[in-house]
Amino acid sequence: MSRLEVVIFDWAGTIVDHGSLAPVRAICELFARHHVVVDDDAARRDMGLFKRDHIRRILEDGGIRRQWREVHGSAWSEADIDRLFGEFQPLQMEVLAAHSKLIFDVGALAGRLRRRGLKVATTTGYTRPMLDLLLASAAEQGFEPDLAMSPDEAGGGRPHPWMCLKIALAIGLSATRAAVKIGDTPADVAEGLNAGMWTIGVSATGNEAGLSAADFAALAEPERKRRLQRAEDALRQAGAHYVIQSAAGCEAALEAIEERIASGERP
Ligand SMILES: [Mg+2]
Repeated sequence: MSRLEVVIFDWAGTIVDHGSLAPVRAICELFARHHVVVDDDAARRDMGLFKRDHIRRILEDGGIRRQWREVHGSAWSEADIDRLFGEFQPLQMEVLAAHSKLIFDVGALAGRLRRRGLKVATTTGYTRPMLDLLLASAAEQGFEPDLAMSPDEAGGGRPHPWMCLKIALAIGLSATRAAVKIGDTPADVAEGLNAGMWTIGVSATGNEAGLSAADFAALAEPERKRRLQRAEDALRQAGAHYVIQSAAGCEAALEAIEERIASGERP
């Protein structure tokens, strides 16, 4: 085994939805409906997790826990998480439709990767119906992955490696070091590392920079640099083997990884 066999992309902030705006909008709105203020930073902190786990993580935050108790008269319960997750799903579906634009020509990239003999797969923090919406929209825009996995069909989401490992089984991967996970959050990196795979973090297009393409381009240079550095630091700290600005430019990193594989290195 000396070559990569599959590249596994995340969706929001990696190949669609520049800035990973859709989940932030839906999370903030969900809590606003329950008179609890969740700001963008709080909504972004645990991005990448399966959405049900993400909602729980937000509720576990000290300030939000206090707010919930003040507004609702008691601490949140498991039943509240069920109810919130139930309400979240149609809300996220609504928001998602407006944020399903591909960040770059992912179809062309997938074509080039396939010509190198690579499979193109995806994982996500979204549920299967949300993923199906993205798949339909991406297909209209010229991108269809060979395989797409959601947490609800793998027994759980990030940071568990199960979606990646189900993909490995489905395509008959010869070794987990023949796979690369590419994503925009520390949770994506953890997922890849837990699966024994190489990991590439993306800094400019994702959750860590947190801006639409237009807003990111409009930033003054020092602020743009500051956001990129902050994103890169978070992804490196999570253990990413490489950090690049956009998944559009992943091929140089893939080549570097193949050289490391050829020289006997493991992730
Ligand atoms: Mg993402």
